[in-house]
Amino acid sequence: MSARHTATTAAEPVTLPIIGDDARFHVRRVYCVGRNYLDHIREMKEADERDPPFFFQKPTDAIVQNGAVVPYPAGTGDFQFEVELVAAIGRGGTNISIESAESHIFGYAIGLDLTRRDLQRDAAKRGLPWEMGKSFDHSAPCGPVHRMEKTGAIRTGTISLSVNGAVKQKGDIGQMIWNVPEIIAQLSNQYELCPGDVILTGTPAGVGPVVPGDVIDCAIEKLGTFGIRIGPKAQRQA
Ligand code: MN
Repeated sequence: MSARHTATTAAEPVTLPIIGDDARFHVRRVYCVGRNYLDHIREMKEADERDPPFFFQKPTDAIVQNGAVVPYPAGTGDFQFEVELVAAIGRGGTNISIESAESHIFGYAIGLDLTRRDLQRDAAKRGLPWEMGKSFDHSAPCGPVHRMEKTGAIRTGTISLSVNGAVKQKGDIGQMIWNVPEIIAQLSNQYELCPGDVILTGTPAGVGPVVPGDVIDCAIEKLGTFGIRIGPKAQRQA
């Protein structure tokens, strides 16, 4: 590798631990699927249940590690959790078929699609992009990656989230409207998927707000547990 002088400092690569492995998973892009569990679509009351899946991205450096403190973000009074199964891509491709999609998966993790719900709703109402509501600093906490060769393909299993020990979200991976192979196939029709891409696959019902000091614990069958704590409100630089 040739070193090249740059005028600014290069960002540290974003990586996730891999269970049972000294190597880490280098994250390239963070894709998210909107509205993928029927009961969540119904609680949000804003979409046609037959809509095809749609995708958005979060910045890669919005990843937050297991056990970290997430500062309560600026600009919101309605900071909400969404627990999601994460598919981590190990082999890239375009126009991937549903039948072969699982062969592109390196492994799985538990993730959170943290959302400034008030900003998301306001943007949706005004026909503006979701960016401010979804793609902000620290908005993508993600647990360690479990290799698929250890877990097998995850198609069913409980997914849950609790706040301060009280269960708020509880569903089953099998309730997804678009399953993981279908998501990979559709996403790869619009973007070239590459090793290191992670896909948050949507959340079941029960989403809600948190306040500073709250502890969020998530669990998905075969993937153990994952959690973060909400810190004080982010301080703005004067
Ligand atoms: Mn989500």
